[in-house]
Amino acid sequence: MELAISFIGTAGAVPTPSRGLSATLVQRGGDRFLVDCGEGTQRQLIRAAVGITQIQRILLTHYHADHFFGLFGMFKTWQLWGRTEPVEIYGPRGLTEMMDMFRRLIGKTDFSQQWREVSPGQTLDFEGYQIQAIATEHRIASCGYLFVENPRPGQFSPERASALGIPAGPMFGTLQHGQTVVTPEGKEVRPDDVMGPSRGGRRIVITGDTRPCQAVVEAARGADVLIHEATFLGDDKERAQETSHSTAAEAAAVARAAGVRLLALTHLSFRHSSREVLAEARGAFEPCVLPNDFDRIVVPFPEKGMPYLVKHGAQEDPAGLSPEASAAPPARSDARRR
Ligand SMILES: [Zn+2]
Ligand SMILES: [Zn+2]
Repeated sequence: MELAISFIGTAGAVPTPSRGLSATLVQRGGDRFLVDCGEGTQRQLIRAAVGITQIQRILLTHYHADHFFGLFGMFKTWQLWGRTEPVEIYGPRGLTEMMDMFRRLIGKTDFSQQWREVSPGQTLDFEGYQIQAIATEHRIASCGYLFVENPRPGQFSPERASALGIPAGPMFGTLQHGQTVVTPEGKEVRPDDVMGPSRGGRRIVITGDTRPCQAVVEAARGADVLIHEATFLGDDKERAQETSHSTAAEAAAVARAAGVRLLALTHLSFRHSSREVLAEARGAFEPCVLPNDFDRIVVPFPEKGMPYLVKHGAQEDPAGLSPEASAAPPARSDARRR
């Protein structure tokens, strides 16, 4: 199953000509969840051509303006486009107040909204994966998120199956689906006899704004991808402390301590060049990338290779001419008019 992370907005605090405010889209098969939704996210999603209406869940890391102001406009657009699919919104302490503010500003919507406050350590179960809220250290209530797939069955060994007298064919599939088979000679063979040990699912951690912290190291241990904020360079270490952010070197130190496979830096300040930020992080942790808006990281199963960055990967149609990317609402009879 395809697992990919699209970088929709990678700027810290204020947008720049090339970077929008915080928003990261995780796609696993048909599931899409958006982590943070800074102002302008809906336009970024439309430009990216990844589909704005198919988002089922929004996870907020905290309630600084650059991480959630985009929700209002996106909800309004969904209402105008006649969305009927429900949406779930998760976030740390303070989400109830957000919901009240929403009700006043947006009014009633034709799609149902489920708002759910989460606390660090809490796990949410979904079909095939879990999302866990992680403690982070910012100036207000905040959390990051660990996405982890359910364990996969071990690798099937056709050689071992043949040696046990199972003819190649449908019985191989039966064993791989966890059922016992009987060989033509009448011998019972259990899945455990021909399958290796179960394999852990893929893991992605998204920190949101934070100081480097141990809870993130623990959650990210052995993760495929750690997406860590890197608002400052080492020269601005004091400022990073004062504002509860991280430097590129600090983000890299977290990645190294956790032994992640790939570090992706985001929430970049307009004060620093991407080149400097990346160089500082790579000094401490080499497998590190710095995505631009609309880049995508593809996360294969570990045995298939390393996670890798695809430049403009979130823009399936670079010209922005796909129906989803056009400014017009989807052709639906129930689309509302202003
Ligand atoms: Zn921020
Ligand atoms: Zn913040």
